[in-house]
Amino acid sequence: MLRLFSARRRLCALAVAPLVLALASCGGDDAGGSDDPVKVVAGAYPFAYVVEQIGGTMVDVDNLTQPGVEPHDVELTAKQMAAVTDADLVVFLHGFQPQVDEAVDQSGLPDEARLDVADVVELLGVTDDGHTVEEGGKAEDDHTTGDHEGDDPHVWLDPERMSEIADAVAERLAEIDPDNADAYRTNAGALDTELTALDTEFDEGLAQCETRTFVTSHAAFGYLADAYDLTQVAIAGIEPNTEPTTQQLADIADLVESQGVTTVFTEELTSPRTADTIARESGATTAVLSPIEGLTDDDSDDTYLTLMRQNLAALQKANRCS
Ligand SMILES: [Zn+2]
Repeated sequence: MLRLFSARRRLCALAVAPLVLALASCGGDDAGGSDDPVKVVAGAYPFAYVVEQIGGTMVDVDNLTQPGVEPHDVELTAKQMAAVTDADLVVFLHGFQPQVDEAVDQSGLPDEARLDVADVVELLGVTDDGHTVEEGGKAEDDHTTGDHEGDDPHVWLDPERMSEIADAVAERLAEIDPDNADAYRTNAGALDTELTALDTEFDEGLAQCETRTFVTSHAAFGYLADAYDLTQVAIAGIEPNTEPTTQQLADIADLVESQGVTTVFTEELTSPRTADTIARESGATTAVLSPIEGLTDDDSDDTYLTLMRQNLAALQKANRCS
């Protein structure tokens, strides 16, 4: 009986020891350190996704674009503006969301607390009027002005660029929170592996298609088109709310018929009315192709990866890829 008791005491002492060590190690930690998660604010879902994957429970991510809201024209509340000012890190893309740019400009945050994705990945330009009825949604050499206003912000639809964003987020988190640097880098490595697999699936899945042209609601797929040698024809411009002219609509309907396009793509967060009209007039059907600018609601089980795979399946079907 005595023996059992002392054995239990020993076990207890062993169990307590690591806790004491843990307390001691965080007691005299660096300024502001402790175990508080790093406060990160993201402009839109794709950036929040990356931060969540890399930061896990080490970060607390606040997405400025609520589910169901289209992010281009997001309007920030006073509380959100305050969250930006108060953040340890803001991940955004200059030129994508004017109100977010403004909030970051006015925040007084030091450079290390600002991660502009436009500084991380190579941006593609867009055509003069923001309309991308051109090949790949890309105006050659138009992205060398140093100003991101005229550039296409939808970089996350290219898995390779998404990987570059992941690495940049991991490095920045490692600077801000050096104690967890290894964990951030390990998580970025895991995400990179997933993105490389996704990229291979797209490469192989879209290699052999009867047509390489696809028609979208707004010009969000320039990077995807560029990565996989497809041609995007967009009904609206880079901003979803730009209205096409009657002539542009007629041109798109003609192109749908002449190029054997089977499907006019719509998206979750904007009205499908114009796409429906073009599809009806040209004998095509409609289907959803997600620009992954946000999730539809709080309860959505979708993630960046599931939505990208749904996009691949939708493109394979529409373009009759084998
Ligand atoms: Zn967009």
